[in-house]
Amino acid sequence: MIPAKFDYTRPSSLDEAVSALASGGEDAKVIAGGQSLLPLLRLRFAYPSVLVDVGGIDSLRGVRDLGHSLEIGALTTHYELTRDPLIAVHCGLLAEAARTIADPAVRHRGTIGGALAHADPAGDLPAVITALDATIMATGPSGTRSISPGEFFVDYLTTSLAPGEVLTSIQVPKLAGWGYRYEKFQPTAQAWAIVGVAAVAQRSNGQVTAARVGLTNMGSVPVRAHAVEAAAAGADASTFALTSAAAHADEGTSPPSDLRGAADYRRHLARVLTGRALAAAAGLS
Ligand SMILES: Cc1cc2nc3c(=O)[nH]c(=O)nc-3n(C[C@H](O)[C@H](O)[C@H](O)COP(=O)(O)OP(=O)(O)OC[C@H]3O[C@@H](n4cnc5c(N)ncnc54)[C@H](O)[C@@H]3O)c2cc1C
Repeated sequence: MIPAKFDYTRPSSLDEAVSALASGGEDAKVIAGGQSLLPLLRLRFAYPSVLVDVGGIDSLRGVRDLGHSLEIGALTTHYELTRDPLIAVHCGLLAEAARTIADPAVRHRGTIGGALAHADPAGDLPAVITALDATIMATGPSGTRSISPGEFFVDYLTTSLAPGEVLTSIQVPKLAGWGYRYEKFQPTAQAWAIVGVAAVAQRSNGQVTAARVGLTNMGSVPVRAHAVEAAAAGADASTFALTSAAAHADEGTSPPSDLRGAADYRRHLARVLTGRALAAAAGLS
């Protein structure tokens, strides 16, 4: 279908983008890679009055080293996440997960900012930045603010970004010495996750000293598996101990039932995949 009529503007600075969004009102929308928004426009599920194309704003590009964390510009594509040398050294989990997204064409156009702002709980990056305890930076008419993943993801396809706010970057802590793994269970290559698990773990003297786990497609928002994290912290770095910790993975979740899997099946997958992801993050496989 042909999208409904809209105005289009391509600002070259963040200030101009914020002004364009303010003058467009609640019906103005940012467009970045267009990989999620364009299908919605073509299905006429979205009717923006004006599209503000942020692709010409250089300050939203690139990955910078801030010392204890990396600042990843909102326009960083999935492909760039898989290739960036700073991300490879300090945040391998993001690269590993980005490699599993769709196909090369989508990975070359889709951006991390768009993937987070779209807030699809079946998307891979929301669970990853949840597990990494990253900080989302946004700028709007009232200035700049930082948002935790728990505050950012509000509901299915819904974030706490206010009208007129642009997601500008994601700050990801460097986890020196932590292992990681993204386990994605998909029906076919390049498909969306039925369930995904993002895990990072720190190991010392045969024990897991700390672990963080984020779940993909186990509710209307990405889920942080706090019960698993509590059970894994201080546990032996053994397959038996981490499988026991992973048995808590579906606690507090409300997975969907659809043609690709019933909720109970997803609960089972979450437990199994969490065991695998934790074992790998702890260096056992
Ligand atoms: C065939 C196909 C398969 C896919 N498979 C997967 C998959 O397996 N896993 C996965 O995770 N994803 C998958 N995706 C989604 C893909 O990751 C998208 O790239 C991503 O969800 C959106 O990024 P984008 O830059 O294209 O955003 P856009 O489509 O441009 O925008 C998406 C939404 O975010 C808003 N937005 C974008 N950027 C900003 C910003 N900087 N500030 C504020 N709001 C913003 C827009 O207004 C819009 O509401 C798939 C997409 C396609 C088409």
